[in-house]
Amino acid sequence: MKCKACGSEVTTSQKYCTYCGEYNEYFLFSEERQSESQSNLSPLHYGGNHVSKPLNRKKITAAKVVGIYSIVFGTLSFLGNEQLANPLTIIMQIIMIVFGIMVTVFAGKGEGKEKGFLITLFVFYCIIALSSFAILAIPDNLIPAEYGNIKFFLFILCNALIITPFIFSIIYFSASKKEY
Ligand SMILES: [Zn+2]
Repeated sequence: MKCKACGSEVTTSQKYCTYCGEYNEYFLFSEERQSESQSNLSPLHYGGNHVSKPLNRKKITAAKVVGIYSIVFGTLSFLGNEQLANPLTIIMQIIMIVFGIMVTVFAGKGEGKEKGFLITLFVFYCIIALSSFAILAIPDNLIPAEYGNIKFFLFILCNALIITPFIFSIIYFSASKKEY
């Protein structure tokens, strides 16, 4: 656009012509420009209904670790399970995979949509942790001697596998607490 006085090139951001100093009739500091600059600001700067909490990165990362770990853990155990005879094992694997996917998908989408799924997985891992103590309770005379310390090995293995989602669930819960 051109200055109405001298005809030199002007833009909507200039209040006056830089060449002749005439007021620029194309100058815009109207609603249009204001809304443009407002949209660049964080929604936290505004009151009322527009206030939204900033995304908590730590919480989202923790949720995703639990989710992805559950998917991988569930899938590997599903692939490693050759005899599909045990329905309980299959249910456990499905829970890990499905809830793992839900946590991963919903993490970071806001409003804590992933929370219910993550709590379910956490409870699930707690149950595994508790049942690992049942392994220790197996009487020694039921274990063939050639297996030696298999009880302790299974106990350690069981807890080593769930320690990661367990710790990251706790990180998630403590990060959620700080939000409110
Ligand atoms: Zn001019």
